Amino acid sequence: MAKVVAGNWKMNHGPAVTEGFFERFRPDANAGSVRLVFFPPDLSLAAGIGSARVPADFGVQNIHWEAAGALTGEISAEMAKEAGAALALIGHSERRHVFGETDAEVDRKVGAAGRAGLVPVVCVGELIEERKAGRLEEVLRRQVGAFRASLGAVEEFMVAYEPVWAIGTGETATPDDASEAHAIVRDALGSLGRAPVLYGGSVNPANAAALMSAPDVDGVLVGGASLDPEVFARIAEAGAAVGPG
Ligand code: PEP
Repeated sequence: MAKVVAGNWKMNHGPAVTEGFFERFRPDANAGSVRLVFFPPDLSLAAGIGSARVPADFGVQNIHWEAAGALTGEISAEMAKEAGAALALIGHSERRHVFGETDAEVDRKVGAAGRAGLVPVVCVGELIEERKAGRLEEVLRRQVGAFRASLGAVEEFMVAYEPVWAIGTGETATPDDASEAHAIVRDALGSLGRAPVLYGGSVNPANAAALMSAPDVDGVLVGGASLDPEVFARIAEAGAAVGPG
């Protein structure tokens, strides 16, 4: 399968900056062989869809599990779909650790994405204390186990392994660390383990090719380095050079 190169813009890039991004985002023609995905802020989704000049899918960074209701500030999977999103990030580390999202809530959101026909990109990953205590496998199995049953009703999904200690820190897991964790995720997924598993955590143009060449790594989820169109184009080109598989 083609490598997935996904950018999570977090709370950056309003609609005007988004249009400017796509004026300057010009990866080599080869990069057409990767699956490009952008997760802009909700308010920039339409600007992104309208101004992208390369084939790309768009997604939202979070959804609520209810379809509608008195839930100020939230958006539903159904609304995201109607607005042109094809995917939804679920359980990103910042949602879990800054906003206190629980495994049970992640599971409800996976169910909601499936109901609306969005592709959930479900994030998992351990804290540094958990890694140091030798609890990597236990944590990943618990996180995947919490939403695995809900994937039965989902047509397509991805998992992103994002060690919390590597997000936005400049510290990256080695390709071997990523492969080890991805193999655990696949095993925990059981019969669903052939879905794409992406690596995220301080990916940049210098480390992207090595990470995407590692066994069991199907692509990358990129935060900071996805904000600059020239830098993100280099990462897409790295994925294309590694090739499918
Ligand atoms: C992320 O936000 O998913 C992420 C991996 O961020 P960064 O690449 O900045 O570490």
